[in-house]
Amino acid sequence: MTTLTIPAFATKRIAKSRISEVDFNNLEFGKYISDHMLMVDYVDGKWQEPTILPFGDIPMSPAMLSLHYGQSVFEGMKAFRNKNGDICIFRPQKHSERLNKSLARMCMPEIPEELFTQALHAIVETDANWIPTSEGASLYLRPVVFAYEPRLGVKIADHFKFFVLTSPAGAYFSKPTRLKVEETFVRAAEGGTGFAKCAGNYGGAFYPTQVARQEGFDQVLWTDAKEHKYIDEAGVMNVMFVIGGKLITPKLTTALLEGVTRDSILKLAPSLGITVEERRVSVAEIEEAFKNGTLTEAFGAGTAAVVSPIAAINIHGTDYNVPAVTPDSFQQRVKEKLNNIRLGFEADVF
Ligand code: PMP
Repeated sequence: MTTLTIPAFATKRIAKSRISEVDFNNLEFGKYISDHMLMVDYVDGKWQEPTILPFGDIPMSPAMLSLHYGQSVFEGMKAFRNKNGDICIFRPQKHSERLNKSLARMCMPEIPEELFTQALHAIVETDANWIPTSEGASLYLRPVVFAYEPRLGVKIADHFKFFVLTSPAGAYFSKPTRLKVEETFVRAAEGGTGFAKCAGNYGGAFYPTQVARQEGFDQVLWTDAKEHKYIDEAGVMNVMFVIGGKLITPKLTTALLEGVTRDSILKLAPSLGITVEERRVSVAEIEEAFKNGTLTEAFGAGTAAVVSPIAAINIHGTDYNVPAVTPDSFQQRVKEKLNNIRLGFEADVF
C-alpha cells in the first residue's frame, strides 16, 4: 500500500460535477463513473505525458485494431481512505507487474511502474471526493490499455491508449455461491492467455457462465483444458479450499490469472496459523474431501469481494454442500485482517 503523492499532469476540469447524482447509500458495482479520467497516448514508440480530462466519449475509428484483433488489457484495483483520512491504493506494484505481464503477452508496450502508479495517484487525487467513506467501501480503479491504430490488416498496433477510470464501490457482501465443475468449456489452456488480464478471456467466458446460470448455478469452477481433471479458478476469482485444516489452492500456471487477493491471502495465512499448499488440486480430491468431511471451507478470492464464500459445488451432476461460514472461519479472519491492513488499523506487510 502506498500513500499518495500528486504529480502535476495537465488537467481539464469538468464544468459541473456529477457527484450529486450518486446514491452513496446504494452503490451498484460499476454503475457510477467519477468526474474525470486519465489518458496517456503511446505514439512514436513511447508513452507520452498523461492528461486528466472530464470523463466522456473519445473519438475512435471503426477500423481500430483492438476492436478487430483484441489487443486490449485491463486491471481492477481499489483505493481507500484509511483511518487517518489518507488515500491509499492497494498494492499498485503488484498490479503494475501483472499489467506488464498481460501487455507483454499481447505484444503491447509495457508501462513503467512509475508512470502507472503516478497516473493512479493523480486520478484518485483529482476525484478524491468520490471515495466513499462508509465501512467496507472503496474507489474501484479500472486501468485499461488498448490498440488505437486504425488498420484492417492483421498486425500488431503501433498506437495505443492507456486510460484510468474510477468508480465508487460499496461494501461487497457476497452471498454464498453455487458452482458447477465445468467439464465441457474451457476458460484458458496452458500456453494461452489465461494469465493475462486481456479482454477476450472475459468475452469467451460469458457463454459457459450463461449456460451454468440457466442450469441454476451462479458460476463455473473452471478445470484444466486438457483433461478437465484439475481445478483452475472459480468464475472471475481464484479459488481456495480448507481441507484437513490446511489452506489449499491451485498452483499458478499460464492458464490462471495471478490474483493480487490470492497472493495477499497466501502471504497472510501463516500469521493466522494455517499451513498453505499451492499445488495441483484435482476434482477427485475435492469430491473425496466432501465425502470424508475434511473439506471445511471453499471460497473465491478477488478484488471486488475479497473473499466470496462457496455454498455448494456440483461435481459430475451431484451437489456437495460446503459447511456454513462462521466468525472463526479462516476466510472470515483473513478478510478482516486484509481490511484492517487496507484501512491502516494493522501494519502493512506487503
Ligand atoms: N481470476 C480472474 C479470471 C479474474 O478476473 C480475477 C479478478 N481480477 C481474479 C482471478 C482475482 O484477481 P484479483 O485478486 O487481482 O482481483
